Amino acid sequence: MRVVVVEQPGGPEQLRIVEMPKPEPAPGQALVKIAAAGVNFIDIYHRTGLYKVDPPITLGMEGAGVVEAVGGGVTEVAPGDRVAYAMARGSYAEYAVVPAWMLVKLPPALDFQSAAAAMLQGMTAHYLTHSTYPLKAGDSCLIHAAAGGVGLLLVQMAKMRGARVFGTVSTPAKAELARQAGADVVILYTEQDFLEVVRRETNGRGVDVVYDSVGAATWEKSLDCLRPRGMMVSFGNASGPVPPFQPLILSQKGSLFLTRPTLGHYTATREELLWRAGDVLGWVQDGRLKLRIERVYKLEEAAEAHRALESRATSGKLLIVPE
Ligand code: NDP
Repeated sequence: MRVVVVEQPGGPEQLRIVEMPKPEPAPGQALVKIAAAGVNFIDIYHRTGLYKVDPPITLGMEGAGVVEAVGGGVTEVAPGDRVAYAMARGSYAEYAVVPAWMLVKLPPALDFQSAAAAMLQGMTAHYLTHSTYPLKAGDSCLIHAAAGGVGLLLVQMAKMRGARVFGTVSTPAKAELARQAGADVVILYTEQDFLEVVRRETNGRGVDVVYDSVGAATWEKSLDCLRPRGMMVSFGNASGPVPPFQPLILSQKGSLFLTRPTLGHYTATREELLWRAGDVLGWVQDGRLKLRIERVYKLEEAAEAHRALESRATSGKLLIVPE
């Protein structure tokens, strides 16, 4: 089978396709024939070494496909099941072995590309809006990169929860997409000072929560956008990791709460995973949650997908289809 690997952390040119034997599922695992793999920013962190993994690094934390075989003791899925998953590495490939408890069976009408587009970014938007800071009607939130993969889903879910949504984007075209997703106030943070807009629009109070996946570039001002005792949810590093800081800053800026969550801890049990995936895939199927698939790449084009994602040129989801 063909697999994308990185021998040495670095740029997109490090991505190589290699031939490997098709793996055998060990006890507790299932072998999935990948129909579509999701491209996510975490794949870039794995490739560059920001998130440490021992080489050779297989990439891809999200996939959808058909179970071809299962190892001993597997009860969750059976050969022939249509499934999707997130947070198990190695989906940029024709086949992947995945812990069976991480596999979610697809609703009959849901296609593989939609499932691969929805799982990781959708469950992220779900835990951020339902668990990390459970938004309720009347709350206000600031979402950076609101037209990104996570961003467009996060905006829609925040609106489903009844919040007032501020969204930042880098271009007018992205602004339009964020608006279509439901953002109430869209800020071109490449031209406008987002802090000034948030302060003005909230009459100086600030928002209840900031969902910040941009990291270094937005960190400081995001804290200033919060109301006293508001919550800073720093969940990504698209512009680079947040530099070291003194906790005292949280007191000076209003006794703020800070969390740095990751999806794995919010899908830690099968029950929690099935809850989040069930909501997300159900909403996609009934049309409440709209996916935007920007482009579908071949396995050979994985480096191109990385270049596009890290150059800020994309909105919504990038997929890789192995054949
Ligand atoms: P996106 O599609 O959102 O792409 C990243 C976006 O970030 C860009 O489109 C761009 O939007 C914005 N951005 C701002 N500055 C930069 C920069 N210097 N370089 C690149 N992009 C920049 O990617 P994903 O949806 O895959 O991921 C979004 C973020 O969410 C990532 O930080 C990722 O790590 C994080 N994440 C975290 C998870 C968690 O559980 N902690 C799970 C999933 C994702 P614009 O042009 O509008 O500025």
